Amino acid sequence: MPSVQKVYQEMLSFFRPLWPGEDKPLVLGEGKSDHPVLMLIGEAPGETEVIKRRPFVGKAGKNLDEFLSLAKLHREDIFVSNTVKIRPVETGPTGRTRNRAPSKEELSLFIPWLLREIDAVQPSALVTLGNVPLKALTDKKTTVGDCHGQWLSSRAGIPLFSLYHPASIIYRRSLAPVYEQDVIALSQSLPGMEGGTRHG
Ligand code: URA
Repeated sequence: MPSVQKVYQEMLSFFRPLWPGEDKPLVLGEGKSDHPVLMLIGEAPGETEVIKRRPFVGKAGKNLDEFLSLAKLHREDIFVSNTVKIRPVETGPTGRTRNRAPSKEELSLFIPWLLREIDAVQPSALVTLGNVPLKALTDKKTTVGDCHGQWLSSRAGIPLFSLYHPASIIYRRSLAPVYEQDVIALSQSLPGMEGGTRHG
C-alpha cells in the first residue's frame, strides 16, 4: 500500500505541467493518514485554503469544528480532503474572482487521484459533504437530497455516509437541524464505534 505522501508526490508531478503559467496550487489532504476512523471529503478548496495551502480552514474550518464537536471527534482523529484539489474560479459580474463548481474536466482529472488517496489512507468510513464528492464516489444519479444521513456503498469499497455541505445551510437555513441530526446519526453508527464516545 503506498503512503499518501507517495501518492501526493506523484500527483504533484502529474499536475505541475498541466497548467503552465497559471497559478493553480494543489491543496492536499491532511490529518491522520493511516486508518483514521473517517475521511471527510469536501468539494474543492476556497480562497483561504489556497492562501494557507490547507483544506477546511477559514469559514469552512468553522464548519469543520462544528462537525467535529457534534460528532465527538478531534481534527487529528480524521483525515480531511477535497474531491478537486485546485480552487475552481470564475470572474463575477463586478470583475472579482469568485468560486465556481468544479467542471466535468476538473472532476475527471481529479477523481482517479481521489480514489488513490483513499486507497492509501484506508479510512474506516468516508463522509461526503454535498453532491460533488457524493457523485464522484457513488452513482452519478445519487443526490444528497435523496440520501443524506444514510450509509451507502462507494466506488472505493469503503462505506460512505452522505451529509449536506455545511456551506449550503447558509442559503437554506431549514437544513441546519437536518444536518445536525445526520452528524449525530453518523457519530452513533461509525464502524467500530457503536455509539460510544471517543473523547469524553
Ligand atoms: N473548503 C474546503 O476545503 N472544502 C470545501 O468543500 C469548502 C471549503
